[in-house]
Amino acid sequence: MIPFVDLKAQYDSIKDQIDTSIKRVIDNTSFIGGKEVELFEEEFAAFLGVKHCITCGNGTDALEILLKALDIGYGDEVIVPAISWISTSEAVSSVGAKAVFVDVNEYKYTIDEDKIEESITRFTKAIIPVHLYGQMCEMDTILKIAKKYKLKIIEDCAQAHGAEYKGMKAGTFGNGAAYSFFPGKNLGAYGDAGAMICNDADLADKCRMLSRHGQLDQKHVHFIEGRNSRMDTIQAAILRVKLPYLNQWTVSRQHVAIWYDDYLDNSKVIIPTIRENSTHVFHLYVIRVQNRSEVQKALDESKISYAVHYPTPLPFLTCYKNRGHVADDFPVSSKVKDEILSLPIYPELKRAEVKKISKLINEV
Ligand SMILES: *Cc1c(COP(=O)(O)O)cnc(C)c1O
Repeated sequence: MIPFVDLKAQYDSIKDQIDTSIKRVIDNTSFIGGKEVELFEEEFAAFLGVKHCITCGNGTDALEILLKALDIGYGDEVIVPAISWISTSEAVSSVGAKAVFVDVNEYKYTIDEDKIEESITRFTKAIIPVHLYGQMCEMDTILKIAKKYKLKIIEDCAQAHGAEYKGMKAGTFGNGAAYSFFPGKNLGAYGDAGAMICNDADLADKCRMLSRHGQLDQKHVHFIEGRNSRMDTIQAAILRVKLPYLNQWTVSRQHVAIWYDDYLDNSKVIIPTIRENSTHVFHLYVIRVQNRSEVQKALDESKISYAVHYPTPLPFLTCYKNRGHVADDFPVSSKVKDEILSLPIYPELKRAEVKKISKLINEV
């Protein structure tokens, strides 16, 4: 049996440190805020090379709060890719704006930068590039378009911890960026957790206020009405233990990807394409096959886990039915949705296991 991700293997490798830090938080009975949260914000900002990091409850909140902080709301349109986790478009709707879907690149699966401009209207206020599967979008082009049309950029980095484009980390290109630390992400907490990052001090204050009931440093001084979205102290303590390992875990994921690349038969399987000048952190290793259901059946029989990210492109989800989109509106997404398959990938996955999975797929 090969799992899709193995969080236990990772925990076992750092068990003493994790247990000690959780115990420290409990001993201090400081469960919300405090030093651990402050230090994680500093350490994560330093890791990315940004000025501000504001932790929050989860990645979806991070997107929503950033949109709000950038004054995006009713009547506005925000461009999002047709393939992502629902949080991306959901956050846009949550602030009262309209998510406008754009098709993705046929081999890199991130938003097709060449199709963004035709989707811009006088209501467009922002673009949310999603650095999907662990690879960043074509940021140069997206930045150019944003500048030309005076649009804000909010990067969705939930799958791209440590990913780089031209030597700079995901999240450092836009006005702000959202990170998720959902347990299965490349840097995962032991529950829900998220963060917003940016370089603008005013925007950082606004995000902090929105996520802390409108307060800044002083209790009972509420500058605006916000909400309650905080990272638990225990999660911050866990993430502080894990952050120093992130680079080595990323390298291990990249090795797994190289093994798959080598073992999979390129004439039958479309393997991931890595954008030039960028580093892929392989949150997911997504292949494409023509006979997916047969491959799935063979994997099932051999007790090898897999997943599909995502079986339904966002515009075709039931909740967006009223948009009336048809397959031809998003030809690439409509085609690849039936071919994509995410194979097991995690830092502890062994070469022999990758070989076994690849061999099985080649045979089908
Ligand atoms: C996981 C994820 C999110 C949301 O993160 P949560 O912490 O689960 O709210 C947003 N966008 C993408 C692309 C994701 O993969």
